[in-house]
Amino acid sequence: PPARRRRRAELARIIGGIGSSHVPSIGVVHDQGRHDEPAWKPVFEAYEPVRAWLEERAPDIAIVVYNDHGSDFFFDRYPTFAVGTADHYGIADEGWGTRPLPELRGNYEFSWHLCNSLVYDEFDITICQEMKLDHGFLVPMHLCFPHEPDWPVAVVPVAVNVIQHPLPTGLRCYRLGHAIRHAVDGFPEDLKVVILGTGGMSHQLHGARFGHINPDWDQAWLDKIETEPESLTSITHQEIMEQAGAEAVELIMWLTMRGALGPAPRRVQRNYYAPMTTGMGLIALEEN
Ligand code: FE
Repeated sequence: PPARRRRRAELARIIGGIGSSHVPSIGVVHDQGRHDEPAWKPVFEAYEPVRAWLEERAPDIAIVVYNDHGSDFFFDRYPTFAVGTADHYGIADEGWGTRPLPELRGNYEFSWHLCNSLVYDEFDITICQEMKLDHGFLVPMHLCFPHEPDWPVAVVPVAVNVIQHPLPTGLRCYRLGHAIRHAVDGFPEDLKVVILGTGGMSHQLHGARFGHINPDWDQAWLDKIETEPESLTSITHQEIMEQAGAEAVELIMWLTMRGALGPAPRRVQRNYYAPMTTGMGLIALEEN
């Protein structure tokens, strides 16, 4: 009925989700303008359909589920889940200076709505009024969105602990996605929201298995995140780490993205590229 349609149009809605790796070297290559080098060109080209899709759908807000790599949080106090509520977010210095990227714009009202809704849905998040963002957040952002002179979208950082055990389970991350969906659906403003889950895919950057990747396992993850994500929620951290390398456990953040989508989204893009030490995966899914 028209009245119901009108009411729906005045609420926020999730228009799609993106799963993406966040390899820091991509940031260096981007900043140095080396997009056409043979080793890197396939990475940047894979994002072109996603950039076109985002430009056409023009989301107002990007919720970015990512992990901080000791740039803003440190091991003396490391929250399991943290959500930003700032008006703007600075660029973290990861040890080689601040990258030449514009600061990111937040959305104060939406962020506080999200925090309230998550806490009342029993996710006891850490609420952050200031945050600085590292490559876990920034690399997928500049792969997906233009940023000159400014980003076209406001952001809400959702940081997940995937580096200091004990980590949240994959199932917990998936259910966080449900709770994010519930919050977005209840925000009384006509806003289009896209959600990104970043990290992974297979990689191990230390120890005897340095350089371990498992392309078959990564491809199976890409299959399942699209069509049967619940089958991924029972995989333990140990199993992910054994199969795909210790740092592949970052993939649990893709489950938050997927948990925020409906059962049968339309695939916009899927890509996999693994020439070096990390399986670089990409999936973009549009809500029906
Ligand atoms: Fe990472």
